[in-house]
Amino acid sequence: MTRPADPSGAAAHSRSSAISRREALIGAAGATAAGLAASAPAAARAAPHRHSVDVVVIGAGLAGLTAATELVHSGHSVAVLEARDRVGGRTLNHALGAGRVVEVGGQWVGPGQDRILARARSVGVTTFKTYVKGDLVLRFRGATSRFTGLIPPLPEPDATDFNQLLGKIATLTGAVPTDRPWTAPGAAGLDGQTLETWMLANSSTEGARFVFTLAVRAVFAAEPRDLSLLHALFYLRAGKGIIYLTSTAGGAQDARFVGGSQLVSIRLAERLGGRVVLNAPVRRVAQNGRGVTVTSDAGDWHAKRVICAIPPTLAGRIDYEPILPAARDQLTQRIPQGSVIKFEAVYPTPFWRERGLSGSAYCDEGPVGFTFDNSPPGGRPGVLLGFVAGSDARRLGGLSLAARRTAVIGSFVSLFGRSAAFPRSLIEHNWSQEEYTRGCYGAFMPPGVWSDYGHALRAPVGRIHWAGTETAEVFTGYMDGAVRSGERAAAEVRPGL
Ligand code: FAD
Repeated sequence: MTRPADPSGAAAHSRSSAISRREALIGAAGATAAGLAASAPAAARAAPHRHSVDVVVIGAGLAGLTAATELVHSGHSVAVLEARDRVGGRTLNHALGAGRVVEVGGQWVGPGQDRILARARSVGVTTFKTYVKGDLVLRFRGATSRFTGLIPPLPEPDATDFNQLLGKIATLTGAVPTDRPWTAPGAAGLDGQTLETWMLANSSTEGARFVFTLAVRAVFAAEPRDLSLLHALFYLRAGKGIIYLTSTAGGAQDARFVGGSQLVSIRLAERLGGRVVLNAPVRRVAQNGRGVTVTSDAGDWHAKRVICAIPPTLAGRIDYEPILPAARDQLTQRIPQGSVIKFEAVYPTPFWRERGLSGSAYCDEGPVGFTFDNSPPGGRPGVLLGFVAGSDARRLGGLSLAARRTAVIGSFVSLFGRSAAFPRSLIEHNWSQEEYTRGCYGAFMPPGVWSDYGHALRAPVGRIHWAGTETAEVFTGYMDGAVRSGERAAAEVRPGL
């Protein structure tokens, strides 16, 4: 891993030589978190001249690191330019002390997410099961109750109404091809309405709409009114359906990585060594018949091909020479990131387990909509994870720190009682405020975008290829989709090298 010199030399040099390679890859918080020895040699300095490689990869998230790893394996020269001072992108470990971590970004994996699981195995990262023993808690219409299973017990007619909604969405989901969603039967109509329009037309009870909306916020970090119905169907199909995506055991929240999900990226980057350049935000990509020049704050790189492995809205903030085709440019003007804040309350022990509770809860009052037991392996300390998603995240993110803390602790207390009132610490991470992410979990298509611009999502533009979880046809939005997109982009560029 390389930290670039600044043009004047001294400042960047003294900083980089004081930081071990592994600490640099993790970032300051994660270095302590993983408790890793500073055994790697000090980071090399990049020469300030123009570099030349076969492929420049923009972004050292799972997609970019996977693409680079694949290309190095096939004997090609690569540079990975990363804007931040760490790798891992939307995965980020937070130190709990004593070598334990929790994740403030993406964290869970489930059966069938074969590519991220294989990639993790390849760098020696193992998984452990999410804690699921005990009852779930439901806070609905001012009352708190306990239940088992995935779907909370609703009164009639709400329960029947909800089951019908689920059945209808499953039928519609099954008809959408994930490679070209705009070719689905009736695609124009599906893409001409929001998921909320559809939900209101196909349900009549408050209970059914509450649980459905909560599931949408949990899966998309967005409101039903934000999403094209066609996009929602595409995303659910790419992710094995709404039941799988909202399930813990056996579903998308089945397991976590020992050492935190960011460890996968850290290990991939360690193996790539000096090919990964941190503090290198890419500003400009210029291509002509001879090749492509990528301009970053760390210098210029000349390459035969570029893989741009960043969210579409961030790709749209780079200057291109010549200008990108209108469809690609306008796509990036229309594909926003979701809104989510993760809050993690840390207690000496997971006290809810002693009461026969799993730590999972659903709440109709907000700001916390749903919770999980996010304690590290071994269950010490106890970590209660609360998601604030969609419009709750947009609203809460604008309040003061004290107001946010009071509101979130209030949610935890209403769900788990007074024992939740005084956590040892409260970790907060708002991804909408991250310059090089701008919202999470990922991007979504509002109405009409798949129909008019979907063809431009993955189509290369000359020497520029697009990766990142948003471009995946399977598990789009997930770590698995990111890895798949990196593998696909690497295969795509090879013939042109
Ligand atoms: P990113 O991780 O975004 O990587 C892109 C990289 O490019 C970043 O490092 C960024 O700094 C860099 N970059 C951006 N712009 C530039 C530029 N101009 N120049 C150079 N570099 C640039 N997924 C799951 O599978 N399971 C989960 O449980 C889960 N939960 C999530 C919860 C949260 C709160 C969040 C935030 C995400 C979650 N996800 C989850 C989603 C998952 O984290 C992402 O899908 C995945 O990490 C995306 O990887 P990527 O490589 O496509 O993009």
